[in-house]
Amino acid sequence: MSASHDRSPATDSDILYRVRRTIREQVRAMQAYPVTQAKGMIKLDAMENPYSWPVELLDSWLETLRSVELNRYPDARADALVEQMRATLDLPAAASILLGNGSDELIQMCALATAGRPVLAPSPSFVMYETIAGFAGSPFGSVPLGPDFSLDTDAMLATIRAQQPALVFIAYPNNPTGNLFDRAAVEQVLAASPGLVVIDEAYHPFAQTTWMDEVLEYPDLVVMRTVSKLGFAGLRLGYLVGDPAWLTEFDKVRLPYNINALTQASALFALQHDAVFAQQAADIRAERGRLFEAMNRIPGIEVFPSAANFLLFRAERPAEQIFDALYRNKILIKNLNRPGTVLANCLRVTVGTAAENDAFLAALSATLD
Ligand SMILES: *Cc1c(COP(=O)(O)O)cnc(C)c1O
Repeated sequence: MSASHDRSPATDSDILYRVRRTIREQVRAMQAYPVTQAKGMIKLDAMENPYSWPVELLDSWLETLRSVELNRYPDARADALVEQMRATLDLPAAASILLGNGSDELIQMCALATAGRPVLAPSPSFVMYETIAGFAGSPFGSVPLGPDFSLDTDAMLATIRAQQPALVFIAYPNNPTGNLFDRAAVEQVLAASPGLVVIDEAYHPFAQTTWMDEVLEYPDLVVMRTVSKLGFAGLRLGYLVGDPAWLTEFDKVRLPYNINALTQASALFALQHDAVFAQQAADIRAERGRLFEAMNRIPGIEVFPSAANFLLFRAERPAEQIFDALYRNKILIKNLNRPGTVLANCLRVTVGTAAENDAFLAALSATLD
């Protein structure tokens, strides 16, 4: 036995006592982000692009990875990638670009730089706004959407006046409802906000409408996007675009080298072949239309129009039953049922390939029969 084993082991109650005394209560009350086991399933739960790359593209991508020097730290500012983004993405020339390890990390930078100050978002919206505000110890306020998922402008403005949020998050289009808020309503939020408004355009490839062109016209607007939903969820790359005065501050709470070398090289390569992925997004938009029409004809559900790569639907019978029946058919979607809210008995399905969508439609129809 080595010396380190002579010490009597700490008892569970010792450790639990220390954990309680040490870890913030807000953190102890949290649950780690749940991810459902999806092995062997048709995966329609996470808004991923279902298409793989053409094989020629795969080969030349692998060739570019040969030159990545994994023994070196990545380019700290990702200059080559940012230059390619400016060439490809039609961003305002005078705006700054800040890269994040997914837009989740950008939300975290915004929250850290304003830690302790109020954060506001409509509800329901992307859950990470509230979760990450909690990481930063910031009070989080939410304003319920109307029954048609529109922004309740009066309630939004009243809450902004009362809470004076440092950050307001607006997902455009909104997740999980899929709709685009009325532009005039968002303009009212921009006019009323005393801090910063982050417009989250994660679904831009499927919505094809943007605030990017106006990003420098408001003192309180930055636009956030990600490559995740476009087809690169595995790379973890998001970007925030806005006035340098804002982004300089957020850059200070960014961990050095947050964008790894493989992601930098791969995203650069993907942007050089953006036509391939623009075509995939167009195919997904067309499939979204077909899926919507087909779901609209299925009795027992109401499907809502979407500007994103997913469809929200409400069922007459308990959402759990539908989720479980699909799961038994090896189809994974998202159960969003929250009784007493606009999401009561709602589920969300990501638009997949034509074959995946057909499998989903067949299983759903059989379940509701
Ligand atoms: C999926 C999603 C994100 C997360 O994007 P990552 O870049 O993968 O972290 C951000 N915002 C909204 C609204 C989303 O739906």
